[in-house]
Amino acid sequence: MSFDAIIIGAGPAGATCAIALARRGWSVALVERMSFPRRKVCGEFISATSLAVIDGVGIGEAFRRAAGPQVRRLAFFGGERVVEAAMPAAPGAGFGRALGRDVLDDLLVSEAARSGARLFQPWRALALERRGALQQLTIGARGETRKLSAPVVIAAHGSWEPGGLPSQPGKAHRPSDLLGFKAHFSGARLAGEVMPLIVFPGGYGGMVWSDGGRLSLSLCIRRDMLLRLREEAKGGPAAAAVHRHLLASCRGVRAAIGGAELSGPWLAAGPIRPGMRPRYAEDIFRAGNVAGESHPIIAEGISMAIQSAWLLAEELALIEPASEAARALAGRRYALRWRRHFAARIAVASALAQLAARPATAELMGWGVARLPPLLTLGARFSGKTKPLGAAMAEET
Ligand SMILES: Cc1cc2nc3c(=O)[nH]c(=O)nc-3n(C[C@H](O)[C@H](O)[C@H](O)COP(=O)(O)OP(=O)(O)OC[C@H]3O[C@@H](n4cnc5c(N)ncnc54)[C@H](O)[C@@H]3O)c2cc1C
Repeated sequence: MSFDAIIIGAGPAGATCAIALARRGWSVALVERMSFPRRKVCGEFISATSLAVIDGVGIGEAFRRAAGPQVRRLAFFGGERVVEAAMPAAPGAGFGRALGRDVLDDLLVSEAARSGARLFQPWRALALERRGALQQLTIGARGETRKLSAPVVIAAHGSWEPGGLPSQPGKAHRPSDLLGFKAHFSGARLAGEVMPLIVFPGGYGGMVWSDGGRLSLSLCIRRDMLLRLREEAKGGPAAAAVHRHLLASCRGVRAAIGGAELSGPWLAAGPIRPGMRPRYAEDIFRAGNVAGESHPIIAEGISMAIQSAWLLAEELALIEPASEAARALAGRRYALRWRRHFAARIAVASALAQLAARPATAELMGWGVARLPPLLTLGARFSGKTKPLGAAMAEET
């Protein structure tokens, strides 16, 4: 089966790109290994800077109907400290909100199918090879394999799962690896408009009200700390050890979820791989986490995924997909725009994550925001919360 473009992965990046290209008349195959709806390790907060793209792909109304309350305040929860500050508003867009990944990803994929993309789900992308002018992707499900061909291949499969594709990560493990955990709670106690940053020994996390009255709690914890916690607990599930550690080490977390009920099981993923990567290499375009990933401490990954996919589709729409020279040019332009728009927030997120990771600097961070709460507002501003994609596009053109 032949297409203009094959997109691997139907998370926020892949599905957004599929919608944008299919609406421009491209024939698109969208390959996703999981059945939806499915929950996913993610804090679920979506910056207001992404609302223009959310409207652009046609799910704005459904998003506003379902998402949790506007997040107008930030907080810092670390040890006994609980500090609050204002969330900066995005110009013309206001404040972000959270929506469960089971809901968001399903909305986007349904819209991709309505826009004309051909969905292969649940099918896993297994191998990619060049065949003359086209690339051929082998996909597999339930013991069956199929071949899909296209001149344009877009990797949007995230960055946490190893695999055999040239754009997928290898399997190295280090004690300093950060592992992601996430849970939903019902009956939690947290002011509706607040999103706290949680800093605890060995990691950081966040909480926010998502859709349907669910509180989303997500975190990253170092592998060596997790091992220590499990040894101290003499076994048992990793998530239970993390849950106890959070309650024991953070007053704000105790107040919010001490009497709450888990709503669904804990999820785990990782190691996560923050950093910048090639946005176009080996004739594969990359969007979302594959292209580059910020530490989740700034809760910008979904926004970077859908915004990068939108930028990529804009560049691809200008070219003839079968022309190798045109693809290379689109790749260069996309890589440049990507860097201009996202590189700074990756650096800011990395600096904040380094501060949160060590007890001495985490203490300094807590001391600083307790004395000067607007530092939290400043951190959010530097992390991209006030930089809509539209503004960047106007500057560039
Ligand atoms: C603890 C934690 C908290 C976070 N909190 C937030 C937050 O509050 N706000 C925010 O904006 N970001 C947050 N993030 C980051 C955010 O989750 C990611 O940046 C975002 O999911 C990236 O989207 P994506 O589309 O690039 O990849 P993904 O969402 O990972 O989607 C990739 C898709 O590809 C599929 N796939 C993978 N391999 C294959 C294959 N071989 N074949 C077919 N399909 C495949 C997967 O099943 C998946 O559906 C958080 C991350 C972590 C770890």
